[in-house]
Amino acid sequence: MAGLDFSERVIKLSEQAMKMAEPAFAAIDANAGINTAKVLAAFQKHRVAEPLFAGTTGYGYDDRGREVLEDIFADVFGGEAGLVRMNFVNGTHAIGTALFSLLGPGDTLLSITGAPYDTLQTVVGLRGNVCGSLTYYGIKYRQVELTPEGKFDIPAIKAAAPGAKSVFIQRSRGYTGREAFTIEEIEEACRAVREVNESAAIIADNCYGEFVETKEPLQVGADLIAGSLIKNPGGGLAHGGGYVVGRKDLVDSAAERLTMPGIGGECGATHDFMRTLYQGFFLAPHTVAQALKTAVFAAAMMELLGYETSPGALSRRSDIIQRITFNDPQALIRFCRGIQAGSPVDSFVTPEPWQMPGYDCPVIMAAGAFVQGSSIELSADGPMRPPYSAYLQGSLTFEAGKLGIMFAAEELLRE
Ligand SMILES: *Cc1c(COP(=O)(O)O)cnc(C)c1O
Repeated sequence: MAGLDFSERVIKLSEQAMKMAEPAFAAIDANAGINTAKVLAAFQKHRVAEPLFAGTTGYGYDDRGREVLEDIFADVFGGEAGLVRMNFVNGTHAIGTALFSLLGPGDTLLSITGAPYDTLQTVVGLRGNVCGSLTYYGIKYRQVELTPEGKFDIPAIKAAAPGAKSVFIQRSRGYTGREAFTIEEIEEACRAVREVNESAAIIADNCYGEFVETKEPLQVGADLIAGSLIKNPGGGLAHGGGYVVGRKDLVDSAAERLTMPGIGGECGATHDFMRTLYQGFFLAPHTVAQALKTAVFAAAMMELLGYETSPGALSRRSDIIQRITFNDPQALIRFCRGIQAGSPVDSFVTPEPWQMPGYDCPVIMAAGAFVQGSSIELSADGPMRPPYSAYLQGSLTFEAGKLGIMFAAEELLRE
């Protein structure tokens, strides 16, 4: 390939993997078409025009660009209101802010998808009673484990949900063996909660799920969703930030928690970031499709090399994460080094496993991104413990994602 030096073997494998992967591409493109139409309709309905991209400084009062973008997020994701802010430092901050706003001392938070994502465990207070965690403020926490197949345990959910003030669902698999929950599964779980608890606020951690399907959790029973803008909905352009979308009263409370009571969403200057947030959200359905095609191709390639994948190349997907299991620490390291070597940024860097704060074993990470830590860009990471799985996600373009996977295959096959 012009400029890049792949072995005959990897080129052959990639051709075979393309044949395997292509049947999945039509459905991915069809979803991207439907989701792009939703975004385009919202941009037109809200009369998006150049002045909205200008941004504000200082307090950020009367920021029309910010308000309109929040209405667009709400329309597209099926909520009444939105809080879309660069002031959220990451997804954990957005989801955690929403949780704090939903719960007060003595209230109970019930997770129905087992333990939440690593960083949220610290927010809840499951990793030491960290000052400022939910537990520290007297909020009670319970969780319903998933079934051995990694599905919702509906009878256990119905038994546990009465009395809960808020119910938490993690859509994506995170760093786990189970697959992402489909929109139909989330609908069934929300219905089960509602049967026994009319008032609980159902919140979904929507990270990595946005635009993978043609509905979002708010459209099947959730009251609030939250996530990161350096994943799917930033479209690869957002420089940072997060969002909370859903019922208006709940979004307003989250805004008062993000800033301060009495200030809420009225403040929050947008500086020079509005154009990239609008353009990124416009691109997001397409970018997610690129990431999904990369994941399907990666699964096909790794299956051809004899590794275990989840989801399988042609399986149903509800997030952009691809798990590949190596059962060998060296293969995991080589895979991540190959992904790094195939990146457009920092391709010359060699990733090493390290003891990251918040994780219970060393983690190896490959990320050669334009935006630091952006995982809608091609990236892979894996905890250095059996069964030595890599979690791969992203790619701004399928073409580059495919090349990145070919680099990883080359590294795996090296003598
Ligand atoms: C990425 C992610 C988060 C938030 O992580 P940040 O790094 O703080 O943005 C939360 N939950 C899940 C499932 C995630 O994938």
